[in-house]
Amino acid sequence: MKSRAVIVTGSTSGIGAALAAAFAEAGANVVLNGFGDAAQIDRVRRDLAQRHGVDVLYHGADMTRPEEISDLISMTERRFGAVDVLVNNAGIQHTDRIEHFPPEKWDALIAINLFAVFHGTAAVLPGMRRRGRGRIVNIASNHGFSGGVNKCAYVAAKHAVLGLTKVTALETAGSGITCNAICPGWVKTPLVDRQIEARAARDGLDIGEATWRLLIEQQPSGRFTTFDQLAGAALFLCSETAANMTGASITQDGGWTAL
Ligand code: NAD
Repeated sequence: MKSRAVIVTGSTSGIGAALAAAFAEAGANVVLNGFGDAAQIDRVRRDLAQRHGVDVLYHGADMTRPEEISDLISMTERRFGAVDVLVNNAGIQHTDRIEHFPPEKWDALIAINLFAVFHGTAAVLPGMRRRGRGRIVNIASNHGFSGGVNKCAYVAAKHAVLGLTKVTALETAGSGITCNAICPGWVKTPLVDRQIEARAARDGLDIGEATWRLLIEQQPSGRFTTFDQLAGAALFLCSETAANMTGASITQDGGWTAL
């Protein structure tokens, strides 16, 4: 990854932050994106750059806004001469029955978890085609394959992301560009912590018991997928070994989709 330019959307927290750190450790220049405390983001940015001797930038594009996504891509191309890797990771969750699901939550979730993947992909492809190389990694979910009660928008978005991954792969096949998806099951991040807290409150459980039940009901291994495991998969997809792998989905879900 030495001197490659990598954008990880939604990298101020959770999986995205871990992937951005892994790419920096592998020698890539990285563009962070996402919301959060400006001083904290800047600390992380400077720390990654110093520790790994790479350039790390931050762009605060709101991934619901196509013009800001386009600015994120063009800033990266201006600063680094290319976007070698785009990791479409930014995502949110909201849980509710379909008939109670607030339409504005549906719109926001579909905009971030799905439409942003389209807009980001459309904006990086011209440059990748010109250079004859590129990697697009979409962070989907086990919910790209399976349903889930109270998760209509999330499941719809993640199924669609897998479809978009396949179309991107087909349209770029043979061009030096690949597009693949990683489909994690439960990963311990703020997005999941909120679901654990909601379950604890709903069922009158302590956090430990709520965590265990959440895991074991759906993830047969009974273990969270780790950041290191996800980073390994993302780096693999960007390696020469995966040069002829495109349109694929790697599940890292402890057997969830094997059920
Ligand atoms: P997280 O809440 O820890 O991080 C989400 C990131 O997205 C943050 O950096 C946040 O600032 C950013 N973000 C949110 N809205 C944004 C917007 N409008 N514009 C730009 N950035 C925005 O979540 P996470 O668990 O790390 O999830 C990351 C991705 O992994 C998501 O796509 C999620 O669906 C997927 N995923 C997570 C799990 C899990 O168990 N945590 C499982 C499968 C898939």
